[in-house]
Amino acid sequence: MSKPVRVRFAPSPTGPLHIGGVRTALFNYLFAKKNGGTFYIRIEDTDQTRFVAEAESYIFEALEWLGIAPDETIGKNEKFGPYRQSERKDIYKQYADQLVNSGWAYYAFDTAEKLDELRKEAEANKKTFIYNHTVRETLDTSLLLSKEETEKRIANGEHYVIRFKTPVNEVLEIEDIIRGTVKFDTNLLDDKVLFKSDGMPTYHLANIVDDHLMETSHVIRGEEWLPSVPLHYLLYKAFEWDAPQFAHLPLILKPVGNGKLSKRDGDKMGFPVFPLEWKTAEGTSMGYRENGFFPEAVVNFLALLGWNDGTEQEIFSLEELIEKFDLNRIHKAGAKFDPDKNKWFNHQYLQKQNDEHLAELFKIELDKKEISTSLDLTKIVSLVKERANFVTELYDLSDYFFEAPTSYDEKSSKNWKEETPELMQKVIEELNKIEDFISTNIETVLKEWMTINEIGMGKVMQPLRLSLVGALKGPHLFDIIEMIGKEETVKRIEKAIETL
Ligand code: GLU
Repeated sequence: MSKPVRVRFAPSPTGPLHIGGVRTALFNYLFAKKNGGTFYIRIEDTDQTRFVAEAESYIFEALEWLGIAPDETIGKNEKFGPYRQSERKDIYKQYADQLVNSGWAYYAFDTAEKLDELRKEAEANKKTFIYNHTVRETLDTSLLLSKEETEKRIANGEHYVIRFKTPVNEVLEIEDIIRGTVKFDTNLLDDKVLFKSDGMPTYHLANIVDDHLMETSHVIRGEEWLPSVPLHYLLYKAFEWDAPQFAHLPLILKPVGNGKLSKRDGDKMGFPVFPLEWKTAEGTSMGYRENGFFPEAVVNFLALLGWNDGTEQEIFSLEELIEKFDLNRIHKAGAKFDPDKNKWFNHQYLQKQNDEHLAELFKIELDKKEISTSLDLTKIVSLVKERANFVTELYDLSDYFFEAPTSYDEKSSKNWKEETPELMQKVIEELNKIEDFISTNIETVLKEWMTINEIGMGKVMQPLRLSLVGALKGPHLFDIIEMIGKEETVKRIEKAIETL
């Protein structure tokens, strides 16, 4: 029987979670849900020098907002806790010792100065110093010492690290669900540090020990971790543990040019690369949430960065994604990030919201602008939302409902002709005749009047729109007239007659 599906997102809290990290979390989430498994979060905070306190809560808040919170993590179903590596510190030493005792690792006492010297020497010869099988027997390691000598030096408080003893002359063939068989020549690997004398494991050791202890079935993570796979594979072998299955997700690429999407691309082109806003003393980085994106839209566009369901379908609810998600359909090639397309996704989700809910969101925007109104916001939203990508755009699309125009678009004003004032006066007379002031009635009355008097539609409709809106834009004119009401409509026409 295959192992139950248990997957993890294992961020290092070194700053705000990049949108690429969010996609990794999402794919783990989808895979877990699809397979009736568990999605857990482990915080990999062993590198205390890069630790940023607010980053951890940021990660949880972001995933919560997106609706992809973990099943298990700090403070939630702690079956395999603690879920913070800094709190698991005492666990790792015994595993490092185990590797030393079985001959898979060794102590290295080389000082920082010595290593620096070797690096410089190599550089002078146009070479790179690599701590590997070609030099390890010549350096200050336990490989050349007896057990007693090694223990004595450690007991004396000498600075040390524990390094992995990479086997020589092997070609590793490792299966990756997305990339197929990936080959690695062990002679090209260095002897990575696994443990340091300050009592902290490095990423590699802690990651493997925890993935094992937390019964991880699949490791789904970004392509940048592919170079670590041979070491991880060898660590599983050294511990005689079954390795999880690996799946390395394609890079998320810049919108233009080559290379990985970076914060700088976002700053340059004006789009966020973080799910939530991130504030530091140096400034504020934009977030998708604060920029008015619906979480469903963000989930949707992220899901399509490297994955599709094999059809042309682009809009997927989270439930649909869970149903259709398949690691085998993820491609190897990098996925281009397209900020304009992301707006399109938000547009689609905005159209899907019901008008009452949109009106509530719109009300919040109006409150921010200190605009109070008795107008029916649900109706207004239904009239203008078609052109909006974001709730924040609703006001610009509908400002004329709330305020009479203070100026008139110059180009559109060309439609105001000599005979227009007289026609507009007549329009006022017609409007005054209408008792039940609703869009369809207004339309019937005005159109009848134009037909009977043989007045061209354009001669009336365009100046009328200009009077009410200030430009030739906006939804169905008679809906606007109904919405602002008879009195306001007449007032605006009179003002236009005076001004234009
Ligand atoms: N802590 C690593 C990171 O920051 C985890 C990599 C992995 O998933 O193994 O992404």
